[in-house]
Amino acid sequence: MSSVNEYRTKCTFCSVQDDIVLKRGSDGAALFGKDSLFKLYYDGKSGRGLCPRGNFTCEILNSPYRLRQAELFGKVCSVDQAIEGCIPEFRRIIEKKNNIAILISGNHTLEEAYLAKKLSEEMNTEYLGLFPFEDEALLSVKNEFSFDDLREADLVLAVGDVFSLSPTLAKPILDARNKKRGNRLISLDIVGNRISLFSRSFTIKPGYMLYFLSVLLSQLEGEKRLKLDKAKVGISDSQIEEIAGALKESKNGQIIFSNIYGHFNNPYGIVAKLSRISEITESKFAVVPIGQNSLGVGRIIGNFNNKKIMDALKEKKLEGLIVLGGDPFDFIPDFENIFGYLNFVLSTYFFKGSGSPECFIPSVFSFEKQGSVVSLEEKVVNLGEGVTPVGDSISDGDFISKFLSKFTGKKVKAGVTSAKPIPFMEEKNIKEPADLVNKKFPFTVIGIGLPFHHGSGEITKRMKWNQGKERPYVFINPDKIKELSLEKEITIETAGGSSVFAIEDCSNLPFDVRGDVIAVPVHYSQSRKLFVANPDEDGIISPGAEKARIVK
Ligand code: SF4
Repeated sequence: MSSVNEYRTKCTFCSVQDDIVLKRGSDGAALFGKDSLFKLYYDGKSGRGLCPRGNFTCEILNSPYRLRQAELFGKVCSVDQAIEGCIPEFRRIIEKKNNIAILISGNHTLEEAYLAKKLSEEMNTEYLGLFPFEDEALLSVKNEFSFDDLREADLVLAVGDVFSLSPTLAKPILDARNKKRGNRLISLDIVGNRISLFSRSFTIKPGYMLYFLSVLLSQLEGEKRLKLDKAKVGISDSQIEEIAGALKESKNGQIIFSNIYGHFNNPYGIVAKLSRISEITESKFAVVPIGQNSLGVGRIIGNFNNKKIMDALKEKKLEGLIVLGGDPFDFIPDFENIFGYLNFVLSTYFFKGSGSPECFIPSVFSFEKQGSVVSLEEKVVNLGEGVTPVGDSISDGDFISKFLSKFTGKKVKAGVTSAKPIPFMEEKNIKEPADLVNKKFPFTVIGIGLPFHHGSGEITKRMKWNQGKERPYVFINPDKIKELSLEKEITIETAGGSSVFAIEDCSNLPFDVRGDVIAVPVHYSQSRKLFVANPDEDGIISPGAEKARIVK
């Protein structure tokens, strides 16, 4: 075998799915130096480059901390032994219908999602759900989007911080903005964001985005049946007319929606309104999920199941849980308590998680497997070639196939059924929301994303501003820090819970944070704990901004 290995695949870290090239070694080189590590290159064809999260691919690929072996009841074993050991547990659990839930991340291929669906049938359960939870709100949308059209759009209306959550989309968006001086970029958000610098930017009061869009829609429909109170919503009638006018005038506008945990309240309603606004104004509409293939995986699941699953977990109605591609202790709210009564938890993941499920299977990233995903452009695309997995780690698709063949005695093939968006649910009457700030809770805490990779992200930790951030932190307006004489560390309390945070000066953000807002990067589980993970009026679990207070 040649000492040079080259793999062309897709970035695993978001739904933009940028092309990446991973290369190792060079012909004739002795492989005991840096040459034996993988290096990352980007495919210049797209012209978008890679963001710091994409560059993190290399750290993960070369990381010595990846888990390489399975564990069953705390003992290291082979994947086959783990499967053998699990089977009696699962046989007992599934005697009762809906006694187990399966949660699968949006970072799986269509083939794996199909196998997860088969697995749920064999496990006698309807409880098959998608995470990250915030992506479930996007499953009724069929994207109207192409990178080429985006570069030509005479208007881009970005709702949410597209630049932070999907950084390489900034390039085609700014190309569109700069193509002609008359072209427009409008940003709507509930806190400043990375697009604000380049756009006509409007900040809607946290919790009010759905109401604001309902007003905008009624304006576009010429009905003006809903009224705006600028003091409450944060935007005046003339500003709303400006946005409506820009949408009406545009010939090839593009609306884009991005969300993250703890940010928008009622994201399903927001998506439904944006979809309707795009129809009326003949603009294109696209959602940009957090997960690489959340649209594909969610459509194969074919239903909004997360509420049912979380209700069953909270009401202690389940005995078993399978989590594919995540650490349940990290992303399931209150999982320490839930874990206490579950009889058997199997999780597949890449690193040692924060708890100890009964069975752990080492899993692989998308650049270590083959299969297909749904792109933002609504094409089914192949991931490309997978790098050989480390140790015994195995793709969740291969794991499920092995498991099912031992469990049922039959071979299961990963056929892919058509994956259509789930039809929109009936619209709810939009009520003006309650204010998120009051005397007892004078702040609003808002979840934000950063364009860097965290977790064990060695590479991004080397970036100057992010050095040494080993614990959760929040951004607070500097005047507020002075006014309240806040120390370096504070405790923030919400109806969801409380956590201790370091205070970060907003000068490290390219936008201002209002005095009554606390912006929380939500990549820490302590940060996510602040947001109440109850289903909203649409039955979607996707927490939004929350009222909060600082306990010194
Ligand atoms: S925007 Fe960044 S994280 Fe997303 S696919 Fe591109 S390189 Fe990866």
